[in-house]
Amino acid sequence: MGQGQALRTRQQNAVAAGVATKAIFAERAANAELWDVEGRRFIDFAAGIAVNNTGHRHPHVMRAVAEQALQFTHTCFHVAPYESYIRLAERLNAIVDTGEENRTMLVTTGAEAVENAIKIARAYTKRSAVIAFTGAFHGRTMMGMALTGKVAPYKKGFGPFPAEIFHVPFPAAFSGVDVAASLRALDHLLASDVDPDRVAAFIVEPIQGEGGFNAAPSALLQGLRERADRYGIVLIADEIQAGMARTGMMLAIEHSGVKPDLVTLAKGLAGGFPLSALVGKATIMNAALPGGLGGTYAGNPISVAAANAVLDVIETERLCARATWIGERVGALLNDLAARQGLERLGDVRVNGAMIGFELVEATPSRDAAPQLTSQIVAEAERRGLIVLSCGVRYNVIRLLPPLTIEESVLDEALQILEASIEAAFATVPAAHPAKA
Ligand code: PMP
Repeated sequence: MGQGQALRTRQQNAVAAGVATKAIFAERAANAELWDVEGRRFIDFAAGIAVNNTGHRHPHVMRAVAEQALQFTHTCFHVAPYESYIRLAERLNAIVDTGEENRTMLVTTGAEAVENAIKIARAYTKRSAVIAFTGAFHGRTMMGMALTGKVAPYKKGFGPFPAEIFHVPFPAAFSGVDVAASLRALDHLLASDVDPDRVAAFIVEPIQGEGGFNAAPSALLQGLRERADRYGIVLIADEIQAGMARTGMMLAIEHSGVKPDLVTLAKGLAGGFPLSALVGKATIMNAALPGGLGGTYAGNPISVAAANAVLDVIETERLCARATWIGERVGALLNDLAARQGLERLGDVRVNGAMIGFELVEATPSRDAAPQLTSQIVAEAERRGLIVLSCGVRYNVIRLLPPLTIEESVLDEALQILEASIEAAFATVPAAHPAKA
């Protein structure tokens, strides 16, 4: 039995089944490459799910972490605060453009940032309801699950959830919902189900992550901003997956020109160390009473040191421009493949900088989701040494999240593997309804 297989067996006997994993047991990693316990080398297009935007073990980040570890590793910010937290807050306040003066608070996970966004929006508005979108993912805590717009596996069996959460259809390829329909549904909801005077917040991912890498069209975000202003509702942009230079801008919402009131950040913020942030208008952020926010580990000094170093790297290595460049390279290949005869089931290519998704569907006219073809591409890529993830409400989107620091030669190699994997999967999984000649 190989080491991987032995670990798989021990995992099954020791770890809860709900913690789903791939069977790649990591041994070490450097920038965009990862080696497993059996010595297999992978190019990592998962980047710890959009976390290692600055690659695995970036030297500048590692140095900052090592230096902090020699000073102190935990005091609890509430007990003995430290300058690095304040510096990070100052930097994030300058990065997030709400059109007003900002304040920041740090917590540990993405879901926790979402929880705090809702807490603060409620405290500020003195209202309770929250409106989210179908296909959204906002985390695995009770409020995170309530806001998430996909039942299995995230919500199934875990209810009841917090009350007064509503979902509006998100516009996406093949969903039959466009921006006008989405905003109509929102207006209908506000007229028929929940009085706007009771709505504390809209929460939206400017690019849905787990939901399938669907970008919210600018018109949708403008429509939300307009209604938020009209009714005094707080507009929260969940940038946990799309933020931190991933899409070619620091925040994905910047592409639309719409200014949010509050922004949640995590993942790419601290280069692999657990840290999340809530950044937003001071008038809103200061609504919570002293002592109402924070936590024992919130703003851990090691994670904060990593985050300050990540911000340095994003700036000095111009990672926003790099994300755009990566998107162009990968997008060119995918669009070329989608145009090829025989590959028509490669239905939609979505390039948002280095947050790249492509959707696998059945042949025209059905365009039904093709989840089996999708998982075959993931398996073929893995066999050839490329880690990719799937996502999407219909389990039929492949998402590509290369580290933004990936070497050009490694990117080229990954694209060759991706092309071969797509071709092999198409040859293995026949179309469910072959196109009529
Ligand atoms: N919001 C979004 C948009 C996410 O992508 C995620 C994680 N996939 C979360 C919230 C939850 O983050 P975490 O897993 O760190 O709690």
